[in-house]
Amino acid sequence: MMQSNIANLLYLVASVLFIFGLKGLTHPGSAVRGNMISAAGMFIAVVTALVSEADLSWGIIVAGVVTGGLVGTILALKTRMTAIPQLVALFNGFGGGASVLVAGAAIISDAQPGAADVQVLVSTAAAVIIGAVTLLGSLVAFVKLAEIVRKSLTFTGQKIVNAALAAGSLVCGALMVSTGGDLAWFWAMTGLASLLGVLLVMPIGGADMPVVIAALNAYSGLAACGTGFVLGNTVLVIAGSLVGASGLILTRIMCKAMNRSFTNVIFGLAMGSGQTIDADTFYEGKVKATSADEAAMILEGARQVMVVPGYGMAVAQAQHAVRDLARQLESMDISVDFAIHPVAGRMPGHMNVLLAEADIAYDKLKDLDAANPAFAQTDVVIVVGANDVVNPEARNNPESPIAGMPILDVDKAKTVIVIKRSLSPGFAGIPNPLFIADNTLMLFGDGKAAIGAITSALKEG
Ligand code: NDP
Repeated sequence: MMQSNIANLLYLVASVLFIFGLKGLTHPGSAVRGNMISAAGMFIAVVTALVSEADLSWGIIVAGVVTGGLVGTILALKTRMTAIPQLVALFNGFGGGASVLVAGAAIISDAQPGAADVQVLVSTAAAVIIGAVTLLGSLVAFVKLAEIVRKSLTFTGQKIVNAALAAGSLVCGALMVSTGGDLAWFWAMTGLASLLGVLLVMPIGGADMPVVIAALNAYSGLAACGTGFVLGNTVLVIAGSLVGASGLILTRIMCKAMNRSFTNVIFGLAMGSGQTIDADTFYEGKVKATSADEAAMILEGARQVMVVPGYGMAVAQAQHAVRDLARQLESMDISVDFAIHPVAGRMPGHMNVLLAEADIAYDKLKDLDAANPAFAQTDVVIVVGANDVVNPEARNNPESPIAGMPILDVDKAKTVIVIKRSLSPGFAGIPNPLFIADNTLMLFGDGKAAIGAITSALKEG
């Protein structure tokens, strides 16, 4: 068995590696290195924990590693690129679930009520409440992102019910602590917090989902931090705090980007999905369709082109085709930039990852603040599979579920070519007036095929 001061020293090394790893993740150029540094830290932490503990059942540990490794490998091999966002939601949930199980097991395995001390019991209550909310909330987020359930569930008095559940789980937690670990209060607390997790995320739709996912990520870290106190494991406390703090920072950034209130999101008071309009009547007779040949002709006359990718680019895996089109246009002395909305796609940084995979230079990507003033001077905007992030309803209709969310003002450009397969809505489930605007042409088809057809037409022309 390793001496505890050596173990603590190794935990400190692991924690420092986590911090340097996080620093590396702040820039695309150093992100891979950052990931490797954090992984090395995690390796040191896991080995130290295993070697420094006295009574370990190695059989159970090996069985856990093999089962977990097998499930992880199968998931990694089978999951399509477009399903990564829901997989990430699931991972957040598993983090919360692990905290509930570990903290729960610690209190259940204490021989009789009263055996655990107050600090451990308070930490257990915190880890279990936050962990259960994270697990169930993330499972609901998974179901929504996988589009297994598209509807958002709302009922009158939902906020009061949520507040009652939150208060109820806290009271049960306090009673568990004051009775020295009575398991009846433990189960009641876990049940109420689980229900709260479901009800918090059920009404979320439209522009609030990305913010909620960032918040759930932060909660999984906070739950792990609580579990670290239960187990008296310093590296788990530090790693959990790092995940919690960076997740809260991401939540704040997303709130700012989406014009949402941080406090409302943290307490589950998201805007919900609002009412929807009948799409057929909305679009009837007002859409102007175009062809790849006509799009190519328009592009030939352009000097400044902006590409706006969205979730559909990920579905079509059109990033390489988009790069080829950009190179073709640049070879014709036409300048091409990319406008990236912070919540385009289904996870933070989704578009950046895809465009980096296609070797598109990072300095070609403009964020929302840099892109919006540029649209007025842009000759042609090509929207590839984006919908909600370019929906002017966010600006113009206060009743819209995405009201107030900053969007890319593509409608300010001279001509907008929107590539998508149909007039189907995006994640928020609402029609988009951009598709019937005077300066918009719809090019219906799969993103990759349509972009490829435009590039071919440009080469031939
Ligand atoms: P949207 O979900 O609004 O729209 C995507 C569009 O892509 C659809 O309208 C669809 O239309 C089209 N599409 C799908 N497949 C293809 C294909 N093969 N070829 C071409 N087009 C295709 O995407 P946005 O990126 O504009 O917006 C993101 C939305 O997701 C926002 O509402 C955001 O709040 C939400 N969200 C974002 C998260 C994040 O962290 N980024 C997390 C969770 C939710 P059609 O079927 O007609 O082709």
